[in-house]
Amino acid sequence: MFKVDVRGQEWAIKAMNCPGAMLLFGSRPRSYKELPMRLAEPSPLHRDELPGTLHGLLRVRIVTQDDAHIFCTEEQIQDEIRAVVAYARYLYELFGMTASAELATRPDNKLGTDEQWDRTEAALKTALELNEIPHTIAVGEGAFYGPKIDLHMEDALGRKWQMGTIQLDSQMPSRFGLKYTGPDNQEHDLYVVHRALYGSFERFIGILIEHYGGAFPFWLAPVQIRFVPVSDDHAERAEAVAVRIREAGYRVEVDSSDETVGKRIRNAQVEKIPFTVVFGERESKESLAVRARGGEQSNPSLAELLETLASLRDEAG
Ligand code: ZN
Repeated sequence: MFKVDVRGQEWAIKAMNCPGAMLLFGSRPRSYKELPMRLAEPSPLHRDELPGTLHGLLRVRIVTQDDAHIFCTEEQIQDEIRAVVAYARYLYELFGMTASAELATRPDNKLGTDEQWDRTEAALKTALELNEIPHTIAVGEGAFYGPKIDLHMEDALGRKWQMGTIQLDSQMPSRFGLKYTGPDNQEHDLYVVHRALYGSFERFIGILIEHYGGAFPFWLAPVQIRFVPVSDDHAERAEAVAVRIREAGYRVEVDSSDETVGKRIRNAQVEKIPFTVVFGERESKESLAVRARGGEQSNPSLAELLETLASLRDEAG
């Protein structure tokens, strides 16, 4: 943690979201009718990593977790975990990655009864099976307060990355004195599921850059189309066409820098921008000079180009 001294009192900069979620849940009495309660919080967290361990986007000191805490009854664990695993699978497949998992089971110093652990471990295992996610069992590797799923994914080059975790926890709610009132009007203990599926956005973006080798699919590319006007005289007309494409919902740039046309086209290629439009005397919205990232050249009209872009965008589903 980052610790700072403020007028003789030691403070720590927020390192995790869990306690805040517990306090929010416990801020007033809760009924079973409110459960499951799912609270998401993608806020910045701070870790005082050693300077030598920092590594690009993969290990940074301020991370933004796609964090959520799901408060639920024991009966609801199965459905909640199943939904979380299904969502993880959907997210990884969106980026063309294959998910696998490791299920960590009860350790020797576990809290709770064997019957409880039988039920919670079975809930996690069933969730993986129903979602057809291949998994291994790490016997005895769970935390003392509950079993855990570690999610891995395999990228385009067959490299494995540890991604998110889904942790079932009976302990933190009780340490914060959290209860809910059941239909019997009695107070009951509850569980919380801590889950982060990308892990952190920073690290995930680093993994994506590696996975795609910088050539993002069209729907994901930070800049989708770059215009290169051949001279200042053409910049204004190029901008007018670019605006039409931008208004259709795409990320478009016009590069009117002082570099030569050849250099600007090369820059767009090096940056792996999906489409470069060279705009000169002969170009108009009736005929554009389009270079795709793969090198193919074509001369579509603006309407035809917009049609192509729409079909590429919709590929992501
Ligand atoms: Zn948590």
